[in-house]
Amino acid sequence: MKRIVIVGCGVVGAAIAYELSLCPGLHVTAIDQATPAQGSTAAALGVAMAVISHKVKGRNWRLRERSLRRYPTLVAELETLTGQTVQLNTQGILSLCFDAEDLPRWRSLQQIRQRQGYSLELWEPEQVRDRCPHLNPEEVVAGIFSPQDFQINPTALTEALVAGAQIQGAEFYFNQPVVGFEVEASTGENRPCTAVRTATQTVEADAIVLSAGLGTLPLTQTLGQPTLLGPVLGQALRIHLDSPLGTPDFQPVVNGHDIHLVPLGGGDYWVGATVEFPPETSLEAALAMSPEAERLEEVRAGAIAYCPALAEGTITQRWFGLRPRPQGQAAPVIQPVAGYSNVWLATGHYRNGVLLAPATALAVKDSLLECGFGDRR
Ligand SMILES: Cc1cc2nc3c(=O)[nH]c(=O)nc-3n(C[C@H](O)[C@H](O)[C@H](O)COP(=O)(O)OP(=O)(O)OC[C@H]3O[C@@H](n4cnc5c(N)ncnc54)[C@H](O)[C@@H]3O)c2cc1C
Repeated sequence: MKRIVIVGCGVVGAAIAYELSLCPGLHVTAIDQATPAQGSTAAALGVAMAVISHKVKGRNWRLRERSLRRYPTLVAELETLTGQTVQLNTQGILSLCFDAEDLPRWRSLQQIRQRQGYSLELWEPEQVRDRCPHLNPEEVVAGIFSPQDFQINPTALTEALVAGAQIQGAEFYFNQPVVGFEVEASTGENRPCTAVRTATQTVEADAIVLSAGLGTLPLTQTLGQPTLLGPVLGQALRIHLDSPLGTPDFQPVVNGHDIHLVPLGGGDYWVGATVEFPPETSLEAALAMSPEAERLEEVRAGAIAYCPALAEGTITQRWFGLRPRPQGQAAPVIQPVAGYSNVWLATGHYRNGVLLAPATALAVKDSLLECGFGDRR
């Protein structure tokens, strides 16, 4: 049995733990300084924009597509295995287009997706009004409807991934910050890490995966290979309405001006999120940044502009989180740590960690299997 230790149990670490727990020949341990889904994952809206994103080729599209393919089987597997329900909205995503100059780009995307085997519908404003009577069609020049994109509850998903991995034999240690590593003294170029240290225990490892979100930077600093990540703050809110919006049989996620309106059922909606960059001073200052109330109000006003009934709703919750954004390289960072033979990074998912968690887990699994950890089934 090869011992794989995963540091961090947000949606990314939990997805990796689950996927690796299915591999014969691997024993999986995941360690988190808190409980699952407490970092950026706790703040996420779980909107999975794959087909409707403008990424059409290269690594970024391949990851999106891999997640898109894995998600339906993953959720079904987890629900059967754990008996837990993972709230999943499969009614698609409707993006509102307000500028006629953007239409050629959408038409081109539609053709590319058709060739790739996915469907995107371009709706006239009248069709937007008919299908979604709660939306204000005045400024809308088109609706882009993506029936294969979806939204999932990030916390429920993470908890189900942890429960599923546990059933498959994975071990979890919570409320234990990882404080360092044991590295074999060797003169070779690529040294192995032999263990992960917390304040109370040392967990021996044949391979280590760092999926600690923003906490990955200090961990890689202790390895002498800092992976630069900065926080980008996001605020969101929950609104309750006495009666649900639109028609009961069609409740897609709506996006207008990069503001999501996520139906939760029972007249509840998530609205968000802001994208607030930190002051360019120090990382400490960036991590300590606090949300600006006006920015959240702008998001609320933006959502009301395309969905006026939201103005009548009661705000029942406000929150914010810090997205882990790589600096100097593209998101996400899924690669070995330079100078080590058995440490991998799976971090820096910025705005798409929920969407990309399953593909990240498969990419980590591929790398481990290629390097001789675990048995191919
Ligand atoms: C407001 C908001 C809305 C968002 N909406 C979406 C969306 O709609 N769709 C989407 O795909 N993404 C969305 N995101 C982005 C998404 O939340 C992130 O990309 C994703 O959660 C990153 O997951 P992660 O597991 O890498 O990091 P995290 O969730 O931050 O998890 C990292 C974990 O590592 C642990 N950790 C850190 N340091 C240590 C240590 N030293 N020892 C042990 N454990 C440690 C932490 O406790 C934490 O549990 C949103 C983000 C925000 C803030």
